[in-house]
Amino acid sequence: MAPPSTPPPEGGIVVFQPLRERYCAQCRGGPLAMLVLEDRAPWCLDCADLGHLVYLPRGDTALTRRSREESTLSAVVVRFNRRKSRYERQGVLVEEAALAGAERRCLADAEARRRRRVRDAGRRAAADLRFTAALAVEIRRLFPRCPAQRAEAIAAHASVRGSGRVGRTAAGQALSEGAVTSAVVASVRHLDTSYDRLLMNGVPRHEARRRIAPAVEAVLRGWRAPEAAGEEGEGQGGGEEGAAEIS
Ligand SMILES: [Zn+2]
Repeated sequence: MAPPSTPPPEGGIVVFQPLRERYCAQCRGGPLAMLVLEDRAPWCLDCADLGHLVYLPRGDTALTRRSREESTLSAVVVRFNRRKSRYERQGVLVEEAALAGAERRCLADAEARRRRRVRDAGRRAAADLRFTAALAVEIRRLFPRCPAQRAEAIAAHASVRGSGRVGRTAAGQALSEGAVTSAVVASVRHLDTSYDRLLMNGVPRHEARRRIAPAVEAVLRGWRAPEAAGEEGEGQGGGEEGAAEIS
């Protein structure tokens, strides 16, 4: 069964890749890899004045689009798919200069994209550093007696990109008091209490947190401003100074 000779719904010049041996009705050349239909008769590309075009297989959408845009004369290449009973687009025929120009523009775009990625990465790194610095300042504002190096370490840890830690959350980015305190509490829990050891020993998380809560609160009290530290007894007086010197 020969494929129907009606062209696919493409518009413009359509070039066919024949499924069986076809020869040019004009020059008798062939068998033809590609042909156009003139009054239902196969013509070779040279006889149809398309011989100067180059074939660009489908696959690169941007390159195909640009090649056709830059090409005064172009054609769509199709082949009939018997199983699906329809024509399928295989590529395009375009002018060689148009293809070269389109390739240059696509390469320039790829280079522009690459440079933009580098710039964006630089901007993100700078923004991360600014955020970490701002977070450290805020930690020191809420906890003036927290050693500076410790505040910076907490801020850097909380800011690690993609970690899902408090510094990356919306509340953390806004430097809300709750978010900043959470970052500090997390650090104190791991570094200044037996929390990690309790977890390693199989103590359930909520029970471990309950057990270390007084120790965490003691450190936070020690790091807060003296007037804030006074609200709950003065038992931590010595600890305050001690904590201030640790770093
Ligand atoms: Zn011919």
